[in-house]
Amino acid sequence: MKEIGHWINGKQVSGTSGRFSDIFNPATGEVQARVALASGAELDHAIAEAARAQVKWAATNPQRRARVMMAFGALINQNMEKLAEAVSREHGKTLPDARGDVQRGLEVVEVCMGAPAMMKGEYTDSAGPGIDLYAMRQPLGVVAGITPFNFPAMIPLWKMAPALAAGNAMILKPSERTPSTSLLLAELLQEAGLPDGVLQVVNGDKEIVDGILDHPVIQAVGFVGSTPIAQYIYGRAATNGKRAQCFGGAKNHMIIMPDADLDKAADALVGAGFGAAGERCMAISVAVPVGEKTADALVERLIPRIEKLKVGPYTAGEDVDFGPVITAQARDRIVGLIGSGVEQGAKLVVDGRGIKIQGYESGFFVGATLFDNVTPEMDIYKQEIFGPVISQVRAQSYDDALALVMDNEYGNGTAIFTADGDTARDFASRVNVGMVGINFPIPVPLSYYSFGGWKRSAFGDLNQYGPDALRFYTKTKTVTARWFSGIREGASLNFKALD
Ligand code: NAD
Repeated sequence: MKEIGHWINGKQVSGTSGRFSDIFNPATGEVQARVALASGAELDHAIAEAARAQVKWAATNPQRRARVMMAFGALINQNMEKLAEAVSREHGKTLPDARGDVQRGLEVVEVCMGAPAMMKGEYTDSAGPGIDLYAMRQPLGVVAGITPFNFPAMIPLWKMAPALAAGNAMILKPSERTPSTSLLLAELLQEAGLPDGVLQVVNGDKEIVDGILDHPVIQAVGFVGSTPIAQYIYGRAATNGKRAQCFGGAKNHMIIMPDADLDKAADALVGAGFGAAGERCMAISVAVPVGEKTADALVERLIPRIEKLKVGPYTAGEDVDFGPVITAQARDRIVGLIGSGVEQGAKLVVDGRGIKIQGYESGFFVGATLFDNVTPEMDIYKQEIFGPVISQVRAQSYDDALALVMDNEYGNGTAIFTADGDTARDFASRVNVGMVGINFPIPVPLSYYSFGGWKRSAFGDLNQYGPDALRFYTKTKTVTARWFSGIREGASLNFKALD
């Protein structure tokens, strides 16, 4: 059985705790490897070495650190297929989708090549007689990234690139379901010139996460995962005096106005709802057509599109639309929720339960599922399903549709499909959601903006990647400097203006 260890001080090391977690091939249901779960002692060692390495890394000039990012970006490009294969092998998503996972992470690395410009400080000449005032951004020290299973390349890159470019060392704790891509990325970073110890990949579960949250050397925690864990991590990290930004789950709505191009809206819904088997935090899981006619026409267009979808293992070819979900437990939970939707009175238009893929009968597959007449009290509406299920909630007016989105506890992404600029503008301005698409279903901002949900989709301050990430991974020090230049003031005991 293949054993996956950790990346410590520039090399792969085996775990010593004796604890492991199985990694499945989601398409076959077989265990394909096991990953070591680090002990407290292994974590302490990784952090101590990272702290040692960070001092020199922080003193390396920003341009040299940026050059490591440049070399890293080039290596990611050269190794695109290898990285995408590693993503698909453990996650199960299709290869084209896995390439997108790597690509959107690479774009964050590319922006971090400009970290020196983004980290520039501020300076006021002659803020008072002979007095200059300046503010500088300094790295925090050793920081942690804790990431989910669903984007094994992109989200570790969201965490590591800005943290490292800013001069921090990072303890990265990837998901125990999909750890291999992070180890490959660590190898590429070393090849790019990152000094040993600056990035430590420590695999593990809750035990190691708690160790990170309680460790006095860790200065900041960047987390991405489900909402209950995000809230827990935010609370514990903050109690321990750490800077924390914790991004959680979602229930993303797409409003379809009567004037929308319904064919385009249906295409967008199918892509955003079923791509990656719905295992995206920006997946559209709720369709909200306005008016009965719009709702009927939309369902009419969705059914044939769903029937055409090809579900299968990523190895079956590039025309596969989506693969299995991550574990048997995830599949059973999704199937259970579909059952609850039926029991609670939703109309099951397309049923993805019981799908069988020839030769992959034990894989964790769920077919594309469409519900109509869903209401906000139903579990399929209230819970993040994180599977290939779209729930249609019919709204009678734009105001009703907007209120539905506003009242939802999550606020990650949302979209509106309309031909009317005024409605779109009103929606973008009023909706209490962090990322908004106008005739655009998955509005994940490009890497020079930043990513962050509102409400219970994010806890803590600042967004991920872009200029916000450089702010999160640095702290400001402000210096007031006086050179006497012939000024003689005499002693003053007053707190006063500088003039
Ligand atoms: P998860 O919360 O189960 O796990 C995320 C990380 O937390 C993993 O590294 C895991 O090892 C760790 N963890 C799990 N249980 C823990 C516990 N009890 N105590 C401490 N640590 C624990 O999430 P997941 O299933 O890997 O990922 C899917 C979730 O992530 C979905 O809810 C999805 O919406 C969300 N997500 C959010 C974003 C975003 O940016 N908002 C992006 C991607 C995924």
